[in-house]
Order: sequence, then structure tokens, then C-alpha cells
Amino acid sequence: MSLPELIVAGNWKMNGVRADLAEIEAVRAGIPASCKAGVWIFPPATIIGAAAALNGGMHVLTGAQDCHAKDSGAFTGDLSAPILKDAGAAAIIVGHSERRSGHGETSREVKAKASAVLKAGLPVIVCLGETRGERESGLAASVCTRQLADSLPAESTPENTVIAYEPVWAIGTGLQATTEDITAIHAVLRAELAKREGTGGQRWRILYGGSVSPANAAGIFESGEVDGALVGGASLKAASFLAIIAAGAQALERRKS
Ligand code: PEP
Repeated sequence: MSLPELIVAGNWKMNGVRADLAEIEAVRAGIPASCKAGVWIFPPATIIGAAAALNGGMHVLTGAQDCHAKDSGAFTGDLSAPILKDAGAAAIIVGHSERRSGHGETSREVKAKASAVLKAGLPVIVCLGETRGERESGLAASVCTRQLADSLPAESTPENTVIAYEPVWAIGTGLQATTEDITAIHAVLRAELAKREGTGGQRWRILYGGSVSPANAAGIFESGEVDGALVGGASLKAASFLAIIAAGAQALERRKS
């Protein structure tokens, strides 16, 4: 597995029916041939197969938003990593704050799910982030560090695991973390990851998520600590998602020049 240097990922959450595959087609058509950023879209599980077939594995990777920690069994309504892989998922998100808060998922469960994704041979995006109360109490860095330690399985490496720092208070609210705040948390996470890996942490991909939009993406990507974005609302329409992808591709070009 080799992950792109910068990833722009779209989390469609519980939005999207077959008619919306046209947005993915438009994204695919709108990505310039020169774009070196990885573009990943996580639609509802019901259209993963159709989305993956559209892309033929090219240009836009299709992924799943969650999975069960077990491979199979009596878990009515759940979907496992191997089942999602079979349906066409080429990556899986785990630990999104809407799963942690809405479904009571603990970091221990997130870790088990991440393990299941890696066992299925897919890259995993592990999400973490502090609440507004935790930030206001000065606990953002310690909460994120703890979540990282508790959510990442031992087998995670920079080649198979992406971290998404998503402050809970910035998700779907229009509230933005400043580039300085994002940089500070990413640096803390990278230092922790470096301890696991012993190579300075630079090989790990750390995405930012939380009300990323065409208006603020370029500023966020200016931070050398940011290896991409996990985008919710602004990923639903091709035009806004393409604008964020363009900002990411430009940032990547500048870093390489
Ligand atoms: C998300 O769903 O992970 C997210 C960051 O959403 P939004 O961009 O809408 O805040």
C-alpha cells in the first residue's frame, strides 16, 4: 500500500442515492490530469458498488464510512470490512465523531474496527478530535493524544493508516479552527506517531476535517503539517469539492517545487 502525499476525502455521511453518482462522475471529469492529490469519496454503503464501478479504481477512490469490528456473524444490519471491500470499498473510515457520539463508540472499539480494516487489506482513516468544552478547558492536545493512543492498532503504519483530526465543534457547524490551532494539534499528533515509528513522523498522513470549504481550504493547506482534508458538507456537490481538490493539488505542487 502506498498512500498519496496529500489526500482530499469526501464524507457524504447519510446523503446520496444513485442519482447523486452524477456528482462523482463530475468530480472525476473535473480533476485535471496533472493533479497529484489523492481524491477519496465515502458515499453511503448502498452506492459504494456503483460508485466504484464508475471510477474503475481510477482517479477517485471509493470508500466506506464505518464497519463492524468482526468479519462476519450474527450482527443484523451491520457491514464488515471484508463485505465492504467485496462491494468495492478501497478504504474505510473509523471513529468519526458522529459514530463516537451518536453510537457511543469508544476508542477501544475504534481500534478493533481499524484492525479489521487493516486485516482486510484496506487503508483506514482513523478520526479523532476534541469537543468544544475540552478545547475551552485547554485539553485539546491531551484529549487528541489519548484518542490516538487508544484508537490506533499496533499494526498501523504510515503506509496503511491515515489520521483525521476533526475537532467535534467544527464539524458541520461552519466554525473553523485556525490554521495555527490545526498546525499545533497536527504537530502534537505527529510527535506521538514519530515515537511509534521512529522516523520523525513525517511519513504519516494527518488530515484536517471540520467545515472545510472552497473559501478556507487554501489557508488550511498552507500548513506544512496538513496532509489533506476530510470534507463533509462541501464534498456533496462536485463544484465545491473540486475547488477544495484544486487547492490541495496546488499546495502539493508548491511543496514539491
Ligand atoms: C466530516 O464529516 O468529517 C466533516 C468534517 O464535516 P463538515 O466538513 O461538514 O464539517
